Parts: sequence; structure tokens; C-alpha cells
Amino acid sequence: MSNTESTPSKNFIEVRVEEDLAKAGNGYEVMTRFPPEPNGYLHIGHAKSIVLNFTLAQKYGGKTNLRFDDTNPAKESTEFVNAIQRDVQWLGFDWNGEVKYASDYFQQLYDWAVELIKKGKAYVDDSSVEEMREMRGVPNTPGAESPYRDRSVEENLKLLKEMKEGKHEEGSRVLRAKIDMASPNMQLRDPIMYRILKTPHHRTGDEWSIYPMYDWAHGQSDALEGITHSICTLEFEVHRPLYEWFLEQLGEAFNPTPQQIEFARLNVSYTITSKSKLSKLVTEGHVTGWDDPRMPTISGMRRRGYTPLALRNFAEGVGIARRENVQDLSLLEFYVREDLNKKAHRVMGVLNPVKLVITNYPEDQVEWMEIGNNPEDPEAGSRKVPFSRELWIERDDFKENPPSPKKWYRLGPERKTRLKGAYIIEGTDFIKDEKTGEVTEIHAVYFPESKSGSDTSGIKVKGTMHWVSAPHAEEVEVRQYDRLFLDPDPAGHKDKDYLEFLNPDSINIIKKAYVEPSLKEAGQDDYFQFIRKGYYKLDDDSSSDKLVFNQTVTLRDNWAKKNK
Ligand code: ATP
Ligand code: MG
Repeated sequence: MSNTESTPSKNFIEVRVEEDLAKAGNGYEVMTRFPPEPNGYLHIGHAKSIVLNFTLAQKYGGKTNLRFDDTNPAKESTEFVNAIQRDVQWLGFDWNGEVKYASDYFQQLYDWAVELIKKGKAYVDDSSVEEMREMRGVPNTPGAESPYRDRSVEENLKLLKEMKEGKHEEGSRVLRAKIDMASPNMQLRDPIMYRILKTPHHRTGDEWSIYPMYDWAHGQSDALEGITHSICTLEFEVHRPLYEWFLEQLGEAFNPTPQQIEFARLNVSYTITSKSKLSKLVTEGHVTGWDDPRMPTISGMRRRGYTPLALRNFAEGVGIARRENVQDLSLLEFYVREDLNKKAHRVMGVLNPVKLVITNYPEDQVEWMEIGNNPEDPEAGSRKVPFSRELWIERDDFKENPPSPKKWYRLGPERKTRLKGAYIIEGTDFIKDEKTGEVTEIHAVYFPESKSGSDTSGIKVKGTMHWVSAPHAEEVEVRQYDRLFLDPDPAGHKDKDYLEFLNPDSINIIKKAYVEPSLKEAGQDDYFQFIRKGYYKLDDDSSSDKLVFNQTVTLRDNWAKKNK
């Protein structure tokens, strides 16, 4: 399924599009759309759909619309509309023309509903929700026809107009398509087209008291926009006959007639891909917001430090399937590491600091060491990093009683190791807090001839450690993350709520870490590797008073090992 091979085979949607192109005449243009409902932020599953729709159109010289399916004012808002646009752009896609809204078509949809009534294909039903459910029946036995099904055209028109004008209560009646109450396809058993809702709409205010259902709005919106391929997830397969029925009844010369094509939704292990479930995490305060770096939302992943290219590569790499499947979260992280390995500047940050004093280094001397930014990228250049007598190093890079030199390449008494981009040092002694037993200061000597790049010392060492000059260090906050859920399929348990699988240790905040001073210049679009530690990016909370870094991903996938 990987698309990294040099001759990727065509997926079934591309095959379809190529057939259609071959059949079509001049002027045929592939048109796709991404149709989110603005009732939450986009998640990794939507990223899949965005990449699929936009790259398919690009590949065949077509265009992609961004259309908000804003047909349920009770759950939708401008905040979501704006966040969704930002996310699509951040992923690197430009939609065709203006942003579109299903609400732009409310009047046209209404006029078409009137037309269907006149053709005897729609009626107002006064049955209660329970009565309708009862009459709908079950798949293998026919349902029952509503007593209101044969209302006169005049009465239907009058009632629909009154519904629209707000003269009837919510839930008192609906407009239904008149299709077939005995159809084995439940979607065709006189589906609801309009319901009464008196909630103001974020765009149309209180102009409308009725709102179209998804099935009535979607295909017609597609047709109005000249969409050729309306790609959606598998759960809509059973809706396809209805999608086609509506278009047929309208009898308009929709040219081309849009066709619905389904593919399997993307599921990712240890992850929730449902806006309503993610919404609950936000409203109940399990996370700090939709863009919490632990969230599988596009804005959360952006804030965490995932790159647009990594998400696009993942979305393409997993391929297009017709059967439900689950992708491993580790695969997503693989794509993130792959891209960051190319982009991220290697810098030094000490997350669990202990003081190291080089006792034979002159007290007031500072050397600016030239250190390369990225061995993977010859263009990345280098920077100067200050070296001095007092440094911060990682506490676990030192052992009071290290095991044999074959097993321990780092620092200890009488153990030699290299400080990255600087000198070879040898541990001499250390100071310990008698009460806590904690090492508070380590002493070492350096070998002046061992300077990196011009080492004439002849000393051989196997380990290299990172460090930060203490007087130059920038004190920062670092937020380390772990998976948000401890179960591979948190939403897949019948007897347990997904919230029960929340990882209580999904965030660990280090209040006092030290990074090299070059990071004072870091910007929101910079990606870093703290060498030997992982990939990091500035958090949105960061300020010049206090830099805050998010751990994007560790250097290697150690989930499996840690959770053995
Ligand atoms: P959710 O269940 O999270 O609310 P949705 O399908 O209701 O998702 P929409 O805003 O209606 O959300 O989705 C916009 C588009 O994104 C639709 O075409 C939908 O099929 C697609 N989509 C949503 N979730 C996924 C997913 N997990 N994988 C692939 N495509 C998805
Ligand atoms: Mg939906």
C-alpha cells in the first residue's frame, strides 16, 4: 500500500475517474469537494479525506471546492468554520474560488422541494418521531405508510410554507420524500427532507425555521457546484440510491450528474476519530482545547509539531481501501520522524539537568563552537554554540559507579566521553547532597588538544553527550507527551466508555529545562531535534519571557518496548 515505490498503482477511484474522463467530451473537468460540517475541528480522518479530494482533482487537472455542510444550526459555529479553513490551508491546499456553504443553497433547495411536492414526490407528515420510527419497520419486513402520505398537493405546499415561516412547532411535522415504505433499503422508506428547527443559524440567522437533512442537501449541493465525483466514507454507501433518486426526480439537466463514490474511513489505533467524541474531551476538560497537542485534530497536531508534509505523506501512504481498517499510530509517527529528520535543526537541550564543572578550564573563558545544524541537509549550515567552564548535562548521563567501560560510554569517575562539538572530558569527582543522596555537581577535566574538528589528542572514546553552557543557557518549559489513550481501540468497547481509557500520564511538564541560547531566536515555524532526546517545536503558549517547547515525537518508536 505504500506510495513510496516508484510505480504506484492506481487506486479504484483513480481508475473510475480515468474511465469517466475517457467517456466525457470536451470541457469536462474533474470536480471534487471537501464537505465538512462545521460542528468541530478537523481530525486525522478528515486530513485523509482532504488529501484524497484535493490530490485527485490536482492529478486530473480539476478543482476542489471547500463546502460547509451547515445544515444543523444547533451544533455549528463560526469558530469551527474558521478553524477548518485554517487547517485545510495549513495542510497546503487551496480550494476553488470562494468558500461554499450548503446554506447558500437553502432557497434553491426549498424551491426544489416545492417542485417535488407538485410532482407528488414529497409530503408533509404530522406523525410523531416515535410513530415514524414505528412505521419505518425493520429491514426484512415492509414498513407502514403514514396516514398523511396522500395529502393533497395544495395542503402540502401550504404546510411547508408555514413550516418555513415558523408557524409550526419544532418536532410537530416534517417534509418527507415519497418513495417506498417497503424498500429493502431503509434509506428509501420515505426519508425526511426537512425538519423544523428554531435555532438561529450562524450565517442565515433566523431567516429559516426549517433545515434540510444531509441527504437532501448534499447531492443537490454537489449538482449545483458541478461536482463530478462526490467521495465519501463507506457508511454512506446505503445512502447512494437516495442520492441518485433525488437527482433523478429533479430531472434538471445536471451535466455532469455527480456520482457518489465510497471509500473506507481512516481509523488510527489509540486514537478517536469522531468529532462528537473529541468534542466531549474538550467540553469536559480532559484536554485543554481542540488544539491541545495530544489531540488527533489537525490543529493539535500542528501545535505539537507534526508537519503538513508528514500528514500528507501518511494520508497517501495508507492508500485508499474499500474495507474498514485501522492504521497503526506508529505509522503516523514514522512519517512525522521521516519529515522532521530532513527538516529539523539539531540543537542541544538538557531536560533533566545537573551541573558539570570542567575544573581545568579557565574561569572566564568562552569558546564559540561551530556546530552543524543538520547532517541530513547540506543547506542547513551551522551555528555557534558557547562553551564554558560550567555546563548543564543530563543527570542520567552520569553514574557514580558506572558498569564496565564496555557497557557505559558516558560520564563517571575516571571515565572519558566527548561533549558534542567540543572536547573530550574525564570525570574526576562529584558532590552529593547528604540528605537526599542526589548528586548536585560533577567535576571533570578536559583535554585541550581534543577539540572537535581539530582533535590531535589520540584519545578514543565511544560516547558523545549533549550539554548547554550554564551561564548562557535559556531556561525553558518542556511539555512531554504520551499517547492520549491506553487502549488500541478506545471507542470499540461495548461495555466501557472511551473516557475510561484516557492515559493519566499523557502529559508531563518539565518546568526547568535548559537549552542553548540560539533557541531564543526560534520561531513558530521552526522544527528542532534536541539531540538524543526527540523532536520539539515551540508551543503556542511560548513567549519571549518563557519559551515553551512541545515534544513532537521521540527519536525512535519506543511505545512497544515500554509497554511490554
Ligand atoms: P465525525 O464523525 O468525526 O463527525 P463526519 O463524517 O461527521 O466525521 P464531516 O464533517 O461530515 O464529519 O466530514 C467531512 C468529510 O470528511 C466527509 O466527506 C467525511 O466522509 C470525511 N471523513 C470524516 N471522517 C473521516 C475518516 N475517519 N476517514 C476518512 N474520511 C473521513
Ligand atoms: Mg458528518
